[in-house]
Amino acid sequence: MPKVSRLLTLAGCCTILTSAFAQNPQSKPAAPPFAAMPQMSQAQQDNYPPPLLSDLAAIKAAALADDYAYQQVEHLTENIGGRPSGSPQAKAAVEYVVAELRKLGLDVQLEEVKVPHWVRGAETGELVEYAGQAPGSTQKIVLTALGNSTATPAEGLIADVVVVNNFDELRALSRDQVAGKIVLFNEIFDKKKAAAGVAFAAYGEAVRYRGAGPKAAADAGAAAALVRSVGSADYRLPHTGYSAPAGIPAGAVAAEDADLIAHLAAQGKVRMHLTLTPQKLPDATSYNVIADLKGSEHPEQFVVVSGHLDSWDLGTGAIDDAAGVAEAMETAEILQKLRLRPKRTLRVIAWMDEESGGAGHDQYSKDHSAEFPHHVAAIESDAGATHPLGFNVRMTPAAVDLLRPALSVLESIGSTMTQPSAYAPGADIAAMSDAGVPSLGLLVDGRTYFNYHHTAADTLDKIVPADLREDAATMAVVAYALASMKDPLPR
Ligand SMILES: [Zn+2]
Repeated sequence: MPKVSRLLTLAGCCTILTSAFAQNPQSKPAAPPFAAMPQMSQAQQDNYPPPLLSDLAAIKAAALADDYAYQQVEHLTENIGGRPSGSPQAKAAVEYVVAELRKLGLDVQLEEVKVPHWVRGAETGELVEYAGQAPGSTQKIVLTALGNSTATPAEGLIADVVVVNNFDELRALSRDQVAGKIVLFNEIFDKKKAAAGVAFAAYGEAVRYRGAGPKAAADAGAAAALVRSVGSADYRLPHTGYSAPAGIPAGAVAAEDADLIAHLAAQGKVRMHLTLTPQKLPDATSYNVIADLKGSEHPEQFVVVSGHLDSWDLGTGAIDDAAGVAEAMETAEILQKLRLRPKRTLRVIAWMDEESGGAGHDQYSKDHSAEFPHHVAAIESDAGATHPLGFNVRMTPAAVDLLRPALSVLESIGSTMTQPSAYAPGADIAAMSDAGVPSLGLLVDGRTYFNYHHTAADTLDKIVPADLREDAATMAVVAYALASMKDPLPR
């Protein structure tokens, strides 16, 4: 627990040091800041009275001994399974989370959302013509359809493959060079960035091709588009994901197969037989689950804790993002278990449709933007469930300052960092963040996240229970602090 200094009445580091010296002229000159005991500013002391600090310590201890979040992830992934928008599993997940949150005694609302309903079909690829081909043979290509892909004919299509490394190379080609062909975007995911701890920067660079590549290829006359999988795994796994509607079949090939095609294309003509038969069904009705633990003093003010309930269909959506939903649920579970009533309303949200267009958060914005001035803070966890480091934050420096005492409570598990973000630190809280709501995204060790992200390997075994407990502890401590400190965070 941070030490509360009674010495000081003025905030600010330099003031602290000089005034401490002034009160005791016999003492040696003050130590430089890095050698000094951390001390709370007046604003921090006002907002974190000792009873709140001891509640936060109790929340942390409870979370580190609690397997509630893990049990939720288990049920969502193993009993229910992958939860793409519009699927029966997404519907079952909504019903399950509603029932669990009601069991916890929360006031639960279902917010209706119209979601896209895209269903994966057959997906196969093989190279049928290439330099050095042994007579009668083909080369299998491991691939998967991207969300919004249209279908090839049932028997597939056969076309030449054109490999480009980036959008500029596509633009440099004539229409004849692209028309009727399969364009492969071979942007390589920067694994060194991931290994260095900035996996999301690598993702941001590569994912542009998944998002916008198929449309660019379609505009250039291509018959189909493929992207090199956006991910860091070396196990020949294709990674699916959202792609802007392009009106052509669109898929992701495993990184190894992108290499193979690129190598063969450098030697001569490559022809591919591609079959993708997904279906776009009519939009479906689904729901955001919104559950409130009413605040005792300011029930009209909200602190949002959230994750998204939908997932891709290849795996069972454990790290993306059953874990985030489970951490938010556990935040409420712990407060109820400890009989702690926040001053402001704690709002748990299980978002629908983060993966295939964001209809859930769009709907929330539509229905609740008038209340955004009373949304004191919004937290989303959607970056996996490995060991926590702190938060990506989008808020003023003064607001970050007011978070410090809560983060200090988490020092023993290491989740003390605040990493300023120029963008919303979570897709589902972006509208709130853009409207000025102080926003936080759980920051975890992201080095392996994109090995599994959007693949068949996003399964329960990727969740380490001890890490998930620390993640839930981090969310619960900070959420309770935000909901119970004296002042709302400054904007
Ligand atoms: Zn996600």
